[in-house]
Amino acid sequence: MIKKVYIKTFGCQMNEYDSQRILSIFEESGYDRTDDPEEADFAVINTCSVREKPKEKVKSEIGRLKRFKNSNPYFKIAIAGCVAQEDGEAILKENKSVDLVIGTDGIPKLYEAIFRVEKGERLAITEFYHDDFTVPIFNRNSSVSAFVTIMKGCDNFCSYCIVPYVRGREKSRHYKEILDEVKFLVDNGVREVTFLGQNVNSYGKTLDEKINFTQFLYMATQIVGLNRIRFVTSHPKDFNKDLVDLVASESKICEYLHLPLQAGSNDILKKMNRGYTFEEYEEKISYAKEKIKGLALSSDFIVGFPGETDEDFEQTLKAVNEIEYETIFAFKYSPRPGTKASSMPDNISDVEKANRLKKLLDAQQIITDKLLKRQIGEIQEILVEGKSKKDTNVYSGRNRKNRIVNFTSEKSLQNGEIVKVKITQAKKNSLFGNLEVS
Ligand code: SAM
Ligand code: SF4
Repeated sequence: MIKKVYIKTFGCQMNEYDSQRILSIFEESGYDRTDDPEEADFAVINTCSVREKPKEKVKSEIGRLKRFKNSNPYFKIAIAGCVAQEDGEAILKENKSVDLVIGTDGIPKLYEAIFRVEKGERLAITEFYHDDFTVPIFNRNSSVSAFVTIMKGCDNFCSYCIVPYVRGREKSRHYKEILDEVKFLVDNGVREVTFLGQNVNSYGKTLDEKINFTQFLYMATQIVGLNRIRFVTSHPKDFNKDLVDLVASESKICEYLHLPLQAGSNDILKKMNRGYTFEEYEEKISYAKEKIKGLALSSDFIVGFPGETDEDFEQTLKAVNEIEYETIFAFKYSPRPGTKASSMPDNISDVEKANRLKKLLDAQQIITDKLLKRQIGEIQEILVEGKSKKDTNVYSGRNRKNRIVNFTSEKSLQNGEIVKVKITQAKKNSLFGNLEVS
């Protein structure tokens, strides 16, 4: 009988990419994928520890999965990702139902680990590997859009952030290997890739060959059959004019930039160790807005950082109102063990953090509404990603600004087609329109 593997992924796109890698290794080890944990023989929880909340979810997920051990004595549970890296062996000690703990750098060791766990061992693999960062091409269930990791780790040590501790030092992946992966994906139907890194603007620094992110991106634009390129995350301190000029001139690179500001107050930015002032950030954004026609911006924010006063928070609100992002991702500050900020008094009450978060998200919704309404009447380029289950004439895709657009079409369309859609309605977080027949 074929064995089955189930995976539950928490956290960022990097984790989604890692989950795809993990699944492909299980496939090579004789497993089929399943979305139903009940029929699985191995369940993997790929975890996130960036904030306390996703970390708590891991505990309840273990609780939910362990009951399957009663009906299937061979059922195994693995904890992967950032929580695995952070807590290592302790997870095995605290949770008798967990069989394998595999950290963020341990994925290449998974072949052997699966074999050993199947034989009844319980093990934790949490070493960091400092050799070159390579990822062999792997099979995945990508539809028309795929994530591609171009670097791992982070050297920035923002004072609130656990990533440098759980993902290790920054390492770039060789550009030839990345381009080969993209070509492989394109040959298998992918039309859009999103390059992933914690700070893509420092891509290339650890490679022997001299190459920077803009040069790499230009090479990717030359891949025949690839229609769209996106990238996250650009760190504002390293984001530069060369990159803006390339985005402005290369039609394959989408006019969408995710540039996390985190806070509008210079005092807080300094305490966060972000390496830029609001004014420096604003100058870069102004250049990008001026050069890139139809640019959509997004950002991350943390509210309630230690010592954040009402005035500091007002500056964040002011920044959001001035810059007019199309989307923001905002979080209540959550102290992470071992980070510099965790030794600063977490002096903003949870109620106050929640108030600030609400204020910020409410302010953003007004801007999102305004920017989406402004797009009514535009004819936009949509990459078709699927069909509505309820209405056969309604399709779904994304515009170049990464916004979901649902649209009607009398004509039958295939996933991966690029079509023109006239926008007729703006919803809360998506757009609606009709296929433009030429
Ligand atoms: N490398 C990206 C950058 O520099 O913007 C961010 C990666 S981090 C995984 C994603 C987001 O989580 C951050 O931009 C930040 O807003 C948020 N975050 C990180 N640590 C946090 C913490 N301790 N509390 C609340 N939010 C946090
Ligand atoms: Fe964390 Fe800062 Fe690195 Fe982003 S750049 S992953 S926020 S340390």
